[in-house]
Amino acid sequence: MHHLLAEEKLCLDKLNRPLKALRISITDKCNRKCSYCLPENYALNRPFIKEDDYLSIPEITSIARSFVKLGVDKIRITGGEPLLRPGVVEIVEDLSATAGVRDLSLTTNGLLLKRFARSLKSAGLGRVTVGIDISVDYSNILTGLDEAKRVGFKNTKINVVIQRGLKQESLLKLTKYCRDNELILRFIEFMDAGNCNNWAPEEVISAESIIHWISYHFPLVASDSNYYGEVASRYKYKDGKGEIGIIASVTKPFCRDCTRARISADGKFYNCLFASSGFDLKKALHSGLEGEALEETLSSLWAGRIDRYSEERQLFRNSGIKLKKVEMFQIGG
Ligand code: SF4
Repeated sequence: MHHLLAEEKLCLDKLNRPLKALRISITDKCNRKCSYCLPENYALNRPFIKEDDYLSIPEITSIARSFVKLGVDKIRITGGEPLLRPGVVEIVEDLSATAGVRDLSLTTNGLLLKRFARSLKSAGLGRVTVGIDISVDYSNILTGLDEAKRVGFKNTKINVVIQRGLKQESLLKLTKYCRDNELILRFIEFMDAGNCNNWAPEEVISAESIIHWISYHFPLVASDSNYYGEVASRYKYKDGKGEIGIIASVTKPFCRDCTRARISADGKFYNCLFASSGFDLKKALHSGLEGEALEETLSSLWAGRIDRYSEERQLFRNSGIKLKKVEMFQIGG
């Protein structure tokens, strides 16, 4: 593995995985209520982070700079819905101006993409990923995708969570739309992220079944990953009309090369999407932590990392241990 990164200074965790990617949630609020992330009934009864408790834009940038010094070169801005966060374009500007950030992307549900696409592009955003819930009408998102294409975004990815009971004709329609519009469709196995999506193993449609279903309609050929630690398994359409990705956290866990750290909008540092607790970076910053001391703190938090929840999921289930996990909408996918 490390021959890929021989020339770089590596910050390794306990399982010898380098710190390479940072996901920054800039709000936990969302203007969609996807059942696999923030179900309606759950959203109604829960307090969201007060804006005063958000990491400020300078705090986000200084934390990101410290992570870059430790080897991070990929930053993804997430939510909740990041386009709801006041100052999102300024955050993109600051992060895109951060030396060492090779890939800056943003995950959105697409509802506000039409309005923000041009300013995000001008601010230096490299790519967008749009999460589409095909159990509801998503036609109003397509205009945002058209605008993203018009202003010059390429390699746009579409994430769709595959859950038992979904309408195949809707999925086929979206698959065709992505083939015809150079969009990379990524099929995500339904995960037990957070505590509120009523996940059950029988609700999961496996990567193998998904590939079988797609190949029946559009023959596929497996393709190599783009980089070490890539989340999705890649497949190209045999007829040359682009590619898809499969994110199989349940049936084919990929913890062995997970290089991702996560920060919540209120400044908690999480070592895993399924973590139960995070380190309060905002509090540490407010008690004067900065510069080299901040880097040392981040480096030791990562160095102590042993998380590999998806590989241990069945062990937890067999042991009956019910973990209280951070919510997906608090740290983004
Ligand atoms: S479960 Fe945790 S360690 Fe495994 S791939 Fe996901 S975020 Fe990484």
